[in-house]
Amino acid sequence: MTRKVSGPEIERIVQLLGRLPGLGPRSARKAALALIKRRNDLLVPLAGALAEAVEKIVECPTCGNLDTVSPCSLCEDPRRDRSLIVVVEEIGDLWALERAGVVNGLYHVLGGHLSPLDGVGPDRLNISGLVQRAASGEVQEIVLALNATVEGQSTAHYLTEQLAPTGVVVTRLAQGVPVGGELDYLDEGTLAAAIKSRKRL
Ligand SMILES: [Zn+2]
Repeated sequence: MTRKVSGPEIERIVQLLGRLPGLGPRSARKAALALIKRRNDLLVPLAGALAEAVEKIVECPTCGNLDTVSPCSLCEDPRRDRSLIVVVEEIGDLWALERAGVVNGLYHVLGGHLSPLDGVGPDRLNISGLVQRAASGEVQEIVLALNATVEGQSTAHYLTEQLAPTGVVVTRLAQGVPVGGELDYLDEGTLAAAIKSRKRL
C-alpha cells in the first residue's frame, strides 16, 4: 500500500490534474506542487480564472465555439463573410485556424468525428445544426476542414451526403506536401494525396 504523503486537499488537486489530457500521475504531481509552491502568482490567479470560467464561459448555440458571450464574438463579428462556413472537428482546430488568420468566414464545430467503433454516430455530433445553417439561404460554401485521418475523411464523406440536398458548394482542405516540406521525407500516403490534388499553374 502506498503511504499518503499529503492531505486530502492536495491529493484531490493531483487527482483532478491527472485527468487532463497529456498529464500522467507524475506530471500531475509536479503541476500540483508547482501550483501550491507558487501560491500567490499561480495558484490564486488560476483559481480565480477557473471560477470566472465556470461562471461566464458558454458554448455558442450557433457554431459550438466557446466564449463569454452568446452567440459567440466570431458569429457576431459583422466583418466576417457570412456566406462561408468552415467546419472543424474540435475547438482547438478553430483556434489553430484563427491563429493563422486565414479564415474570414464563420465556423461550425462538430464536437469530434464519426467513429462507429467508439459508439460515435451522427447524432453525437453537431451535424443537424450544420445542415440547418447550410439551408438558411445565406451560406454559399462549406469548407470541411477535418483531420486527414480515416475518421476525419469518413466524416467528411458523410457530411457531403447530408449537405447535398441544400445545394451549397462543399469543399475540403487540400492534402499533400506541407509548406517547407521535402519530398524525400514524406510518406507514401502524403505523396499520393499530393499527386491526386495537384493543380494547374
Ligand atoms: Zn458562434
